[in-house]
Amino acid sequence: MRIYLDENKKELAAVICNKCRRELTVENGILKEGCFCGDSRFGYFSNKDGKKHFFDLCEECYDKMIKGFAIPVEEEEVNELM
Ligand SMILES: [Zn+2]
Repeated sequence: MRIYLDENKKELAAVICNKCRRELTVENGILKEGCFCGDSRFGYFSNKDGKKHFFDLCEECYDKMIKGFAIPVEEEEVNELM
């Protein structure tokens, strides 16, 4: 989950892993470690009709989650790192 300093969600105050509750490192409004940002909109054909889900996972919890996948994640090199 993300905590913002302002209502417009522009100034990031904290990011907390939804799985383990660990607070990730945020400095001056910038997230300084690996994080999986879940952002899904469930449409008409789902059982969550019209709902949006948001969550954050720290890198450790993300790694545990993808270890359970039957098919490994697709991976490619990214040249422009943030
Ligand atoms: Zn975690």
